[in-house]
Amino acid sequence: MDKKTIGIIGGGQLGRMISLAASYMGHKTHIFNPSDCPAFAVTNQTTQAEYTDTAALEAFAKSVDVVTLEFENIPVSSVEIIEKITPVYPSSKTLRTAQNRVLEKTFLREAGIPIADFHPINTYEDFTQAVDNIGRPSVLKTAMFGYDGKGQYKIESETDLQTAWNATGDGEKILESWVPFDCEISVIVARGLNGEIRCFPPTENVHKNHILDTSTVPANISADVIDKAINIATKIAEKLDLIGLIAVEMFVCSDGEVLVNEIAPRPHNSGHWTMEGCVTSQFEQLVRAVLGLPLGSVDVPYEKVVMTNLIGDDVNNFAPALADPHTKIHIYGKDEVKTGRKMGHITTVYK
Ligand code: AMP
Repeated sequence: MDKKTIGIIGGGQLGRMISLAASYMGHKTHIFNPSDCPAFAVTNQTTQAEYTDTAALEAFAKSVDVVTLEFENIPVSSVEIIEKITPVYPSSKTLRTAQNRVLEKTFLREAGIPIADFHPINTYEDFTQAVDNIGRPSVLKTAMFGYDGKGQYKIESETDLQTAWNATGDGEKILESWVPFDCEISVIVARGLNGEIRCFPPTENVHKNHILDTSTVPANISADVIDKAINIATKIAEKLDLIGLIAVEMFVCSDGEVLVNEIAPRPHNSGHWTMEGCVTSQFEQLVRAVLGLPLGSVDVPYEKVVMTNLIGDDVNNFAPALADPHTKIHIYGKDEVKTGRKMGHITTVYK
């Protein structure tokens, strides 16, 4: 068997679960992370260095056959350094697009993907003008480094614009019109080295305090909406020339319209249910895609699958969930419990 080593940029729970999937398929991993992290416990090799450490990036790139990422807030220039030595999937080009909401929304609009109206914002004047154009409610977001609702401010009819402006810090921003959605879904799509594409079925996602709480399959949406969501994810993968895996988050409106909110160039929290609920997990699918193996089946052999995140203190309270023998638990091995921190998840399958 051809044993490969996959380099993984980032060592959080996603890196940990990619590494485990690579390991059970007989491959090795090398994790690059600036500090001790959950993935270091389950990998063959580690590099603990800053993402700007050129020598460390080059040594890492030389030690592996291919690189993937589990974390998108790293400088694109760091990925370009690695790319000169070894392939990175998804590529630095895809990372650049996904990292910045303005580039991301512009790419989606040019690709003909339905999205909410938006305006790029560089100055306070841009902002007030954009609010006049788009109207209220709308949402002001930082262009870079936002996650779990951080760096966002909803502009309601009574919102003071100066307060919203100050609350979202410096740097490039974006104003988006507010989407009165019925539900939020996501589709995880993988594309292999030969262009083969497979989409996992849409997952319905419910957030609590801006953090994902549950993901349920099947999503409570019509067959028509399922088709639209799968077609959108497929088109994005093709237009990006994707190799690897991305998650596409979408809003579903009451009239059946589907709008893309954002894309993530990596496995996604809303895909953790695939570990028990699907023939192939999202992590195995990523390993298959980046190694040029055939993609696995995305069939779901259950009537329903529900994933629930363990956030902060929830991690000390999962015993009742385990009373159901169809429930599986994943704990990420993080040393410190913090409010709002993703500590693990549980998945229940229903026949
Ligand atoms: P994001 O960081 O863009 O994924 O946004 C986090 C969450 O905020 C989303 O999952 C939605 O629940 C909500 N949200 C973001 N943008 C919009 C929007 N334009 N309209 C309605 N809700 C939004």
